[in-house]
Amino acid sequence: MAAAPENAMAAVVPSAVLRVCRTLRDAGFQAWIVGGAVRDLVLGKVPSDWDVASDALPEKVLELFDKTIATGLQHGTVTALVGRGAERESVEITTFRGEGAYSDSRRPDAVHFGVPLDEDLKRRDFVINAMAFDPIDARLHDPFGGAADLQDRRIRAVGVASERFNEDGLRVMRAVRFVSTLDFELDEATEEGMRTALGALGQVAQERVRVELLKLLAGAAPARALELARRNGVLAVVLPELEALPLAEAFGRMAALSADPCLRLGALLAGLSSAQLEPVLRRLTLSNEERHRVVGMLRGYDLQCRDFADEGSWRRHLSRVGRVHARDCLDLLEAEAKRTADAAFTQAISLARAVLASGVALEVRDLAIGGKEVMAETGARGPLIGDILQGLLDAVLDIPARNQREHLLALTRDLAKKHG
Ligand code: ATP
Ligand code: MG
Repeated sequence: MAAAPENAMAAVVPSAVLRVCRTLRDAGFQAWIVGGAVRDLVLGKVPSDWDVASDALPEKVLELFDKTIATGLQHGTVTALVGRGAERESVEITTFRGEGAYSDSRRPDAVHFGVPLDEDLKRRDFVINAMAFDPIDARLHDPFGGAADLQDRRIRAVGVASERFNEDGLRVMRAVRFVSTLDFELDEATEEGMRTALGALGQVAQERVRVELLKLLAGAAPARALELARRNGVLAVVLPELEALPLAEAFGRMAALSADPCLRLGALLAGLSSAQLEPVLRRLTLSNEERHRVVGMLRGYDLQCRDFADEGSWRRHLSRVGRVHARDCLDLLEAEAKRTADAAFTQAISLARAVLASGVALEVRDLAIGGKEVMAETGARGPLIGDILQGLLDAVLDIPARNQREHLLALTRDLAKKHG
C-alpha cells in the first residue's frame, strides 16, 4: 500500500475543514488535521470525522468563529459550525494539549495547554494515529513513523506500551479493534504491554468498551482480533461468559456473516442460554433496539432446524421467531451451516428463505380475519379472542390454504365452542 501523495491527500479535505484551518492560520496560529483522519488519508480512504488541532487556546477559538459549540472546553475542544445550509459542517478544534499522570487508568488527572504539536501527538494511543497533516501546505508531519507502520500493516503503541495501556485501559480495546477494522497485526512489544493492562481495562466504562467492541465486530478481521483478545486475556475481562463456550465455533460463524455488528454479536453469543444472554447485553449497554434484535435472532437459533426438510416445520419455527427477527435468525443458521460445510443444512435454509419470501401467514396479523370479526362471530371477549386467533394461526400454519375469510369464520365458531 503506497502512501497517498500529500497533494492527493489535501484534495480530499472538505472545504469546511480547509476554511477552519485557514481562519486559524490567518490569525497567526497553527492548524493541523490530526488523529484517525490523517491515518485514513494516508491509507487513501475518505475519513468519516475530522479533528483539527491548533496552538490557539479555546477562548481564542471561540472568538475566531461565528458559530461555535463549547463541546469539551475543559479538554480544549470547541466545535465550529462553518458554511451555510446544506454545506454546513461541524469541525472539532482541539487545543494542543499535554497530559499529567493517570491515577485511575481512565483519564489524566490534568490536561495542560501551551505545548508544542509533538507533545500533543505523543499522548495519542498508536503511532498510526499520531500523525498530523497540514492541508494548506499539503504537508504530513509524522514524528513516530506512522506512515511506515501503515505500510507494514502494524499497530504499535506510542512510547512504552505497558505504560500507555495502563494509563487508559480502553486502549487495549482500541488495539484489538484496529486489528479487526484495518486487518493489521499487533506489534509484539505492544501485545506484551497490553497483557499488563487487563486490570486497567476492567476499570473502563462499559459504554466505551461497547463502542470499540461493535467497531471490532463490524471490522474486516473480527475473528482474528477476538482470537488475539482471547489469547491475551482481554476477552476474559470484556466477555467472561464466553470462556465456557467453544470459541472457535463462534468465531467461525461470525466470520461467515456480513459486517453487521449486531448479527456478528449474535453469532458470538449463540451458545449462551437465554438466562445468560440478557445480563450480558445489558452490561454491554446495548441500546434497547440492539438488545431486542440480538435476543430475537437467538430465540430462533436452534440447531434442530438442520433437519427441517418440509415447509410446515419452517412455518412453525419462523412463526415462533417472528417476521422481524426471521431474516437475522436464518442468517445465523446459515453461518453455522457454512462453518460446518453442511450441504443439507444449507438446503434446509434455502427452503426457509423461500417460505419467508412467499408471504405465507406466519403471525396473527397475517390472518384473513382479525379480533373484531372473531368478536362479532362468537361474542367472545377478553383473552378468549387471543386464544381463538392463536388457534386459527395454528391451523393456518399447518395448511396455509385455510387462510380465507369464510374458512376462518367457520373455524372460529368451532374454536369458540371448544374453548367455551
Ligand atoms: P475512527 O476512525 O473510528 O474515528 P479514531 O482513531 O479517529 O478512529 P477517535 O475516537 O475518533 O478514533 O479518536 C481520534 C484520535 O484521538 C485517535 O486517532 C487518537 O489519536 C486519539 N485517541 C482517541 N482515543 C484515545 C485514547 N483512548 N488514548 C489515546 N489517544 C486516543
Ligand atoms: Mg475518528
